Amino acid sequence: MSAENSPTPLVPSEVEGRGTVFGADAPRLGSGRAKIPDVAGTAEPRGSLADFIWFRTGGPAEWLVRPKDIADLSRFLRDLDPAVPVLPVGVGSNLLVRDGGVPGVVVRLPKSFAHVTVEPGYRVRAGAGAMGITVASKARDAGIAGLEFMRGIPGTAGGAVRMNAGAYGRDVSDILVEATLVLRDGRVETWPGQRFAFTYRHSDTPEGAVVVEALFEGTPGDSETIGAEMDRIAAEREASQPLRSRTGGSTFKNPAGTKAWQVIDEAGCRGLQIGDAQVSEKHCNFLLNLGNASSAQIEQLGEEVRRRVRAHSGVELEWEIQRVGVLSSDK
Ligand SMILES: Cc1cc2nc3c(=O)[nH]c(=O)nc-3n(C[C@H](O)[C@H](O)[C@H](O)COP(=O)(O)OP(=O)(O)OC[C@H]3O[C@@H](n4cnc5c(N)ncnc54)[C@H](O)[C@@H]3O)c2cc1C
Repeated sequence: MSAENSPTPLVPSEVEGRGTVFGADAPRLGSGRAKIPDVAGTAEPRGSLADFIWFRTGGPAEWLVRPKDIADLSRFLRDLDPAVPVLPVGVGSNLLVRDGGVPGVVVRLPKSFAHVTVEPGYRVRAGAGAMGITVASKARDAGIAGLEFMRGIPGTAGGAVRMNAGAYGRDVSDILVEATLVLRDGRVETWPGQRFAFTYRHSDTPEGAVVVEALFEGTPGDSETIGAEMDRIAAEREASQPLRSRTGGSTFKNPAGTKAWQVIDEAGCRGLQIGDAQVSEKHCNFLLNLGNASSAQIEQLGEEVRRRVRAHSGVELEWEIQRVGVLSSDK
């Protein structure tokens, strides 16, 4: 099915999300236009994001910065002009990066932020760059129950905190003891879980702040039982989600009292396509890049789904995928 002839054009009032600016005042993505301080890690002008973002679409970061360690990140943010926007990213499993790229600085945590260790009290301490599956596996090996759901979330611990990621009735708010952040001005703070004011797929992580470490807590459990539950989660996901596709996971938050996939299906959107952007046949709350989709096509398709669902059932779908950066027409 194609919506090629009737896409809803993107208009500013319909497009929220960080970094979205329209018209003559929109920031331009220069080749390192923003002046940035020295960093002991790496700083790449016009660094590609499409190389690793799950959708494999979108423009570059004006600067892609990989700090060496927490002290390096702290110094860098302290010395960076406060006017320069900062966007932390994990592995982009919940991101749609617009085709015009991301002005300012994108911070990606390298492997040195991916440590995972077990602590007394059924706790797991994870660098924010560690993947959910690594956190869950470490907990399993130590006989710590309650973190199994992290097995199914294909993102980093930092992204999981920011998004209050969850599945099977549990989310990060249930297991987070505290997390350490480097704030936009370079201050390093450790916040207790409650301070993040978690709600469904949302936290009050401040704009431009980078989560660098998280401490999770579970309960005593049996490694074999935990492992079996993780295997069940993996098998269930394999059966129901397009895991091997270029996607951003669940596109819309579940509306109160119903499931997003259900209202999308009822509105006849399963398989709907704009160019190479498609509503997954397997799980219709997932959008796919079949090969050569642009981020604009993916976003247009999402807006078209919202329009059709609104017309069919009156339900207002809210984006769960974080859309960042500027439209290419803004360049
Ligand atoms: C196949 C598939 C299945 C999925 N299933 C689920 C699921 O069951 N439940 C669920 O909740 N999600 C799910 N997701 C979505 C996604 O995996 C989660 O939202 C995940 O937490 C995002 O992590 P990330 O590291 O990829 O973050 P990114 O996608 O890179 O970023 C997401 C947001 O977090 C911010 N962020 C990332 N890292 C940091 C950091 N260190 N500090 C501060 N902010 C940061 C970014 O700025 C952005 O706003 C799924 C995605 C896919 C592709």
